[in-house]
Amino acid sequence: MTAQSSIFAPDFSETPYWWDGCRPNDAGAGELPRETDVAIIGAGYAGISCALELAARGTEVIVLEAELPGIGASTLSGGQVTGGVNVGKSMSKRVSAAAGNSAIEGRLREAAAGYRFLETLIARYGIDCDYRRNGRIAAAWTAAQVGSWEGRIARLNAHTDSDVRMLDRNELRSELASEVYVGGALINGAGHLHPAKFFGGLLTAALGAGARLACHARVTSIERARAGHRISTGRGEIFAKRVVIATNGYTGPATPGSNGVLSRSPRIRSRPRFCPRSCKCRSSPRIAAWPRPTG
Ligand SMILES: Cc1cc2nc3c(=O)[nH]c(=O)nc-3n(C[C@H](O)[C@H](O)[C@H](O)COP(=O)(O)OP(=O)(O)OC[C@H]3O[C@@H](n4cnc5c(N)ncnc54)[C@H](O)[C@@H]3O)c2cc1C
Repeated sequence: MTAQSSIFAPDFSETPYWWDGCRPNDAGAGELPRETDVAIIGAGYAGISCALELAARGTEVIVLEAELPGIGASTLSGGQVTGGVNVGKSMSKRVSAAAGNSAIEGRLREAAAGYRFLETLIARYGIDCDYRRNGRIAAAWTAAQVGSWEGRIARLNAHTDSDVRMLDRNELRSELASEVYVGGALINGAGHLHPAKFFGGLLTAALGAGARLACHARVTSIERARAGHRISTGRGEIFAKRVVIATNGYTGPATPGSNGVLSRSPRIRSRPRFCPRSCKCRSSPRIAAWPRPTG
């Protein structure tokens, strides 16, 4: 046993935890047609959700995926659903002065609408993804972090469905069996889901609505041609009247102008239950940790 491997539990696995519930695969994928109305590049939430909306309205659409659908961030995320909490955070810190209040509040309302849309999707297509709206705790290490939350909750409560309230140290202890936090925020309106199972359900809905999917079809170039675009992929060419780029941080030279930073995020499975509400908890140091009960 090496020094490094000795720190891991016997059942340590490098396979993403969520893939136990739904592993990326090529079921439902097919050949690359010569042409289509819309080609979507990238099969994550963005690409598949777009394909579902278009196909459900009768548009001919294919999703071109470099590897397998869901192989990107969409089956690796934390599964937190907040509808505005993170938007509010960046808005207040970086964009506030430049964007002005109405722009910020508009984005918060848009995020809240996105949350409602997600719930509609889950219900409409009967997606089995362990979705629960049972809140989220943002636990603070310092008084400054508590202050930052206090400065944000009025706007969040006014423009989103977050329903946030502050927790003092004692209240936090009753929500979370830990002594280390000085307080925090309880986001009653937040929820969580199983990100890979949600992705699998979304993909099934899109294919069922008539969307097509081509796997191992990495797009290498997009050129204007006729009244549309000629797209070169690892599996040949396809002509599309319109193109949607949904490549996230995995984007490459074929879609210049966008770029991303990839990061690795370990998942730790532990047995003891430490949160009676059984909700998601986010700790506030720079290295993020967001325990999520799975049992
Ligand atoms: C560790 C982590 C935790 C997160 N936690 C949360 C959370 O708790 N809540 C939340 O709401 N969000 C969370 N997110 C963010 C969320 O996962 C992403 O915003 C979301 O999954 C992005 O979906 P997407 O469709 O844009 O991209 P992706 O799912 O990354 O899909 C992009 C796809 O494009 C494909 N692609 C790239 N280039 C090409 C090409 N040239 N040709 C063809 N295909 C290509 C890739 O292979 C990939 O499959 C988290 C993200 C990470 C990484």
